Amino acid sequence: MILLFTILCSYTLFSQNYFYEKYQPFDEAIPSPAEFLGYEIGARHTRHDLIVSYLEKLAELSNKATLVEYGKTHEGRKLVLLTISTPENISNLEDIKKRHLAFTDPNLSTSNDPSLPIIINLAYNVHGNEPSSSEAALLSAYTLVASQSGEIKKYLENAVIFVDPTINPDGRDRHTQYANSYQGNPLVADPQDAEHNEYWPRGRTNHYWFDLNRDWLLGINPESRGKVKWYHTWYPNVVTDFHEMGSQSTYFFEPMKPNGSLDPIMPKENYEDLNNLFGDYFAKALDSIGSLYFTREAFDGTYPGYGSSYPDIQGGLGLLFEQASSRGHKQTTAFGEITFPFTIRNQFTSSITTVRAAVENKEILRDYQKEFFKSAMLNSAIKGIKAYQFGDSYDQNRVKAFIDKLLLHQVEVYKSGDKAFVVPTSQPQYRMVQSFFETYNKYRDSVYYDASAWSVANFYNMKYRGLRKYSKGDRVTKTEGLFTPDAVEKSPYAYIIDWDDYNAVAALYYLQSNGLVISSSFKPLSVSSGGKERSFNYGALVLAVSLQKKSDEEVYQLVKKVQEKYQVPIYGVSTGYTIKGIDLGSRLIKPVTMPKAAMIIGEGTRSYEAGEVWHLLDTRVNMPITKLPLRRFDDSKLDGYNTLVMVSGEYELSEKEQEKITNWVKKGNTLITIGTASKWVIDKKIVKETLTVFSKDSTDVKRLPYVDASENLGREEIGGIILSADLDNSHPLGFGYRDKSIPVYKNNNVWLSPSKNEYSTVLQYSKNAHIDGYISKANTDNFLKSSASLIISPLGAGRVVLFADNPNFRGSWYGTNRLFLNALFLGDKINVPKAD
Ligand SMILES: [Zn+2]
Repeated sequence: MILLFTILCSYTLFSQNYFYEKYQPFDEAIPSPAEFLGYEIGARHTRHDLIVSYLEKLAELSNKATLVEYGKTHEGRKLVLLTISTPENISNLEDIKKRHLAFTDPNLSTSNDPSLPIIINLAYNVHGNEPSSSEAALLSAYTLVASQSGEIKKYLENAVIFVDPTINPDGRDRHTQYANSYQGNPLVADPQDAEHNEYWPRGRTNHYWFDLNRDWLLGINPESRGKVKWYHTWYPNVVTDFHEMGSQSTYFFEPMKPNGSLDPIMPKENYEDLNNLFGDYFAKALDSIGSLYFTREAFDGTYPGYGSSYPDIQGGLGLLFEQASSRGHKQTTAFGEITFPFTIRNQFTSSITTVRAAVENKEILRDYQKEFFKSAMLNSAIKGIKAYQFGDSYDQNRVKAFIDKLLLHQVEVYKSGDKAFVVPTSQPQYRMVQSFFETYNKYRDSVYYDASAWSVANFYNMKYRGLRKYSKGDRVTKTEGLFTPDAVEKSPYAYIIDWDDYNAVAALYYLQSNGLVISSSFKPLSVSSGGKERSFNYGALVLAVSLQKKSDEEVYQLVKKVQEKYQVPIYGVSTGYTIKGIDLGSRLIKPVTMPKAAMIIGEGTRSYEAGEVWHLLDTRVNMPITKLPLRRFDDSKLDGYNTLVMVSGEYELSEKEQEKITNWVKKGNTLITIGTASKWVIDKKIVKETLTVFSKDSTDVKRLPYVDASENLGREEIGGIILSADLDNSHPLGFGYRDKSIPVYKNNNVWLSPSKNEYSTVLQYSKNAHIDGYISKANTDNFLKSSASLIISPLGAGRVVLFADNPNFRGSWYGTNRLFLNALFLGDKINVPKAD
């Protein structure tokens, strides 16, 4: 008994010293994380609710801390920040904020203010299964609040520190549950143990399997929207972003690889000077605890939507840290044994070192921030473009969604005539304006950690142009009420819903699920409604009142309700005899079957793409989709569905399972494949289509230096580019588009040959397809020029819709979502015409 007690005590002492020795003594009135949780940090993975409770405890017990809640996740978990500083600063936060924000306003003249604290955001755990960081957040919060050392006191006098312990609580808890439930006692370090091999979809992503570390620019999920909104209330000078990488490594901190852009949006002073300045601090701190690390050779921060790059285009310094993961509590690697506490200690060391470096370079950081916003106004004049004008009079809900993103980033937007808008370039958020509208075709580097294209206007298929002269109307400050469709008037005969509107699909599903029969017009038509002529594009929805089982009044109430809910243009008409085009009783106005959709998910499938489909249907169409686990596909019955989605993945299906899919399609159903799933249906000869092939002459092999291999091979990868493609908008898959060419996003090497059927290549890359991003000459010449982006292929009485490119990328491609939704709602109406 005594022996056991001694062991426990020494373990406790060891653990306390392991992390905090340098910061003794601590205020005894404040419980350490270990005292609060009942276990040592690193002994288990800590649940997010306990992390929040601990921070609440600190805020309750100490006048050096207050807690801010900035949102809730999809699963309802709290998103919080603990504000830490001296009691004096904490009681003067509003005044500090005002003085600090003056440095971000180029119109105000400010001079450095040595008494003003520097603003630091220690942010952790954007990837849920990179767990050392949130544990380090607990240690950082405790140390900053409870340490009575002179060093920490000095930091609090000179800084306001916002600790965001978990950016992605839903993913974190998914992993936490996993790691704790497989933990052995004694610990099992064998890398083959289940504890170190998490299963699909893993904890990296959020509820809808989105990578939140790409979402800062795109602003789709509540986690990043809450954070970005908070961000613009404080504009921190320094922001951390803690990650883990593969276990066979050490530790990484910035500087990263040189910026891949020829003319980077973020200032060189940030990318080079500030990162080198901070890098020296991290090197010394990690040297002092004997930890190995590397810098410069990996990771690029060119994409502005990372947690470590967004601050760089907001006048701050974003810092990326990557710890080799123990993935579990202890694991054997080629670098020795990595324990969870060891990974936590490195992250904790970098946390406190960040505070130190920021405090010691307060004036440099604040001068930098001031110059950053001033230079935004000056630089914008250089290129001669004074403003970008955009709009789309056919689809106002898509325009609204685009404006929402501009406003999220505090970009100034003004009205410009009827249904058009302008964004002036001369504004503090000039770099964000660049990120939304500028496109590039020349690069310094050719190997990217992620996308090399992110001109957000193209994501939304938003037509825009740069103006050398412009005039502006009222400033737009919110999207609510920006466009209101004319209220639909009651009709005893029929209603027409404009299919060009982004929300028309949600409206269709809502009416269908309320038992109404709705048809789609396969040719354009014009009618008279409310005394005006209205023209409708392909796909316009026709609701004939006499076909419904409900009364005229009940139908009208539903139509009114759906218009209020989704703000879509709906018109009452009193005759079936149209002004132009087909009449309302035409055989080309075809009843739409309500989709009963399923999607294969699970180990082997790409969780991001599956999540994007799920998110699109849940949040924008409000339509359920059944998620069929691949592992029990053999037992699944497909008869209840009319549409099956297969996203990119490695489908190791038995012949019997393949036949099950084929036979089901042949009965008249629709299979939608995306990316490598399209390649799969071709490879398995489920469809009679082909891939674009290019064979190199094998006698012509040139010897090359081994060291260049990864660079050379990386150049041929398609990290993420925007291409223009020609659309057949008379094809049901192209309904709802007015354009003959639209931007598409390509981030794979799936190259489909155009269909041999003249009418089945819906989307083919344009002659000069490049819009934005890096693609090699070899890929352009050998593949892009002769490939299609979307084809449809008959199979028995059914069909397969093959997308080479992901139409739902990152929940953000409003411009191509419609192609996918058309496949889902109109797929069964498409007959592939045959020439013979
Ligand atoms: Zn990560």
